[in-house]
Amino acid sequence: MFDYPKLVVIEEQGLRDGLQNETKLVSTEKKLEIIDALVDAGVKRIQIASFVNPETIPQMADAERLCAGLKKHDDVVHSVLVLNPKGIQRAAGAGVPHVTASISASNTHSQRNAGMPLNEARRQLSEMIVIGKKSGLTIRGGIQCVFGCRYEGKIDSNTVMDMLKEQLDQGVDEIELADTTGMADPRAVQEICGSARSLAADKPVYLHLHDTEGKGLANALAALQVGITHFDSAFGGMGGCPFVLGASGNIATEDLVFMLEQMGIETGINASKIAAVSRSLEDFFKRRFSGKMHHLLNRNDIEIIR
Ligand code: ZN
Repeated sequence: MFDYPKLVVIEEQGLRDGLQNETKLVSTEKKLEIIDALVDAGVKRIQIASFVNPETIPQMADAERLCAGLKKHDDVVHSVLVLNPKGIQRAAGAGVPHVTASISASNTHSQRNAGMPLNEARRQLSEMIVIGKKSGLTIRGGIQCVFGCRYEGKIDSNTVMDMLKEQLDQGVDEIELADTTGMADPRAVQEICGSARSLAADKPVYLHLHDTEGKGLANALAALQVGITHFDSAFGGMGGCPFVLGASGNIATEDLVFMLEQMGIETGINASKIAAVSRSLEDFFKRRFSGKMHHLLNRNDIEIIR
């Protein structure tokens, strides 16, 4: 039998990863309403935006305004994604307490997503960590395309571990391993997450999964079995990197929460309330999202036996 954790921490990514690909703009006010709904659903970690070039990702152009409108909750961490030193400077200026500073493990993806080769991205990440620490931010170091890249195929796990060690040595507070392309499989997840857990010692290792190839929850389960207790997910299964060929959504928060609940693992999150957020956004965007449980939870015409 596996030794499953009692508690899992989930960082909700829907407002950033979920919305970044959408051309229909969501107003700052509506984003703040979504944040309220997520807090009401029990979410304690929310990635609310990215500080990136607004011309490249117009949906994130209101990041400063969004930060200014946030309500303070002692037990809720609002975080943002930054990809370069300018981004982390903007985040610090906006008063964000927590950032994910992320670079890709794939040279080609780094060129397309961040406009720089891997060695330069690694140099800039060190610079970001220095700026973040000076500004008193909590920093989650992130690595994208850990389990594969559509342009380069499999990524050498030695590169990933070397990057991870570098970030830990530079003093990041947490780590995020991202399966940006959804190419991970349960065995690769166990091998890489197992090594990452040993390297990170007592620092949290978040796993960011996409369901592109339908292995999202299988990969989450595999990670739980090697001691991963921190995950990223997005309401409705929204999301995907605009610079990744064939990318699709994150694992859906309500699907992950529902599965964990069935396994007796607590998250503190009400899956039905997340499902309601997803359905309201399906109405807004006028299309169905790829998650499962938001179509099943709290409907009047069927009853879900848990
Ligand atoms: Zn993602």
